[in-house]
Amino acid sequence: MPSFYHATADTTLRFAPLSGPADARVAIIGGGFAGLATAMSLVERGVRDIVLLEAETIGHGASGRNGGFVFGGFSLDNADLVRQVGAAEARRLYGLTLDAVERIRQRIQRHAIDCDAVYSGVLLANWFADDRPLRALQQFMHEQFQVDWRWLPREETRSLLLTERYHAALHEPNAFHFHPLKYAQGLARVLREAGVRLHEGTRVNGIVADGAGWRVSTPSGHVACEHAVVACGGYIGQLFKPLSRAIMPIATYVMTTEPLGGRLASAMRTTAAVYDTRFAFDYYRPLPDTRLLWGGRISIRDRSPQAVAQLLTRDLLRVYPQLQGVQVQHAWSGLMSYARHKMPQIGRLPRGPWYAMGFGGHGVGPTTLAGEVLAQALTGEAAMPAGFGHYGLPSTLGPLGLAAAQATYWWLQLRDALRG
Ligand SMILES: Cc1cc2nc3c(=O)[nH]c(=O)nc-3n(C[C@H](O)[C@H](O)[C@H](O)COP(=O)(O)OP(=O)(O)OC[C@H]3O[C@@H](n4cnc5c(N)ncnc54)[C@H](O)[C@@H]3O)c2cc1C
Repeated sequence: MPSFYHATADTTLRFAPLSGPADARVAIIGGGFAGLATAMSLVERGVRDIVLLEAETIGHGASGRNGGFVFGGFSLDNADLVRQVGAAEARRLYGLTLDAVERIRQRIQRHAIDCDAVYSGVLLANWFADDRPLRALQQFMHEQFQVDWRWLPREETRSLLLTERYHAALHEPNAFHFHPLKYAQGLARVLREAGVRLHEGTRVNGIVADGAGWRVSTPSGHVACEHAVVACGGYIGQLFKPLSRAIMPIATYVMTTEPLGGRLASAMRTTAAVYDTRFAFDYYRPLPDTRLLWGGRISIRDRSPQAVAQLLTRDLLRVYPQLQGVQVQHAWSGLMSYARHKMPQIGRLPRGPWYAMGFGGHGVGPTTLAGEVLAQALTGEAAMPAGFGHYGLPSTLGPLGLAAAQATYWWLQLRDALRG
């Protein structure tokens, strides 16, 4: 069962594998949003001597499988961010994610990327009866980040989302949602036209120092470059030890229903995307052709499409029992890359390659931010924002770390179940 995104993206867009030796100023490893955004930000600064190497196809990883929410913030909770880097730096970093949301919107428009974007914002729906934490969040966002999320009282929430599950909601108006694989492919087309050499089916298996630069090896050739950028997300495997050991690959799941036609309005009367206030929240959105895209769960386990469809259908019916009997047509999973501290890891190893990874489940905006700050640093235009320096590359402790993460997830889900 291919994902809905694969079934509806451009299957004719292909880039030949690397063949033989090549030279470039910059070699980017990974054709997800982090790699593509870095190439875009470099091209926008006049750097075109770039080779981008993707092991599978453009958008193969999380970038071509995600929920399609484009919104501000990081995987790390905003209150933790303020505690860890201080109010001023947190405001700066959060502001960069809002700039990234705007940058994505502008790139879609400037390059006429057809990616089913819906500019209706995102709703954060309160799963719990106690409204005080949501009120406190609204106030926090206003006071700390000068961001105004609109309060939707219970009646208004329930007039848009026809379920008794939610008690109130906050609306983030500048956020939007889109078809992420079409967007990734759109960026790849723009890059190709700008002269960037993209190669699919080209798995990098070595990055070694070579004189003043780097030699990036693949089974079908190598690239000699001045700068190497590693942007391999949760699919990095054992590519480069100091980076591989700092990433925990965590799965999450998505499915799409059949087109629901008029039946969609029995559940949702908004085109906004929705997530809720639990730790392992549901995230979903209506698609322009009246399907419902539904995502959720976090686990260290990859599951079969059948198992994903079964689990998520149960979650969907818990919120919208009136959709009993709808058919699921596509189900899939994807790997997010988590750092131990839950913040993106963006920077350069001492006398080593550049990297952009660890975007977790909140990466569409932050990968675009990463491309911008890496391009600024690499071209000498500006230093990396200090806040990212606070977050290093601590080991995620391999299988032990994964087991600990799963235990934490179970505990937090149990806590939410007891509250709800
Ligand atoms: C199911 C799901 C739902 C999500 N929903 C949302 C959402 O709604 N909103 C949001 O903001 N975030 C969401 N996220 C998170 C977001 O998608 C990611 O944070 C983001 O896409 C990460 O981009 P990336 O480029 O770092 O990694 P990826 O997109 O995973 O790309 C890494 C690429 O590197 C390639 N690669 C790996 N190793 C090599 C190698 N050795 N040589 C060459 N290439 C290699 C891989 O094939 C892959 O294409 C979701 C994630 C998942 C999995």
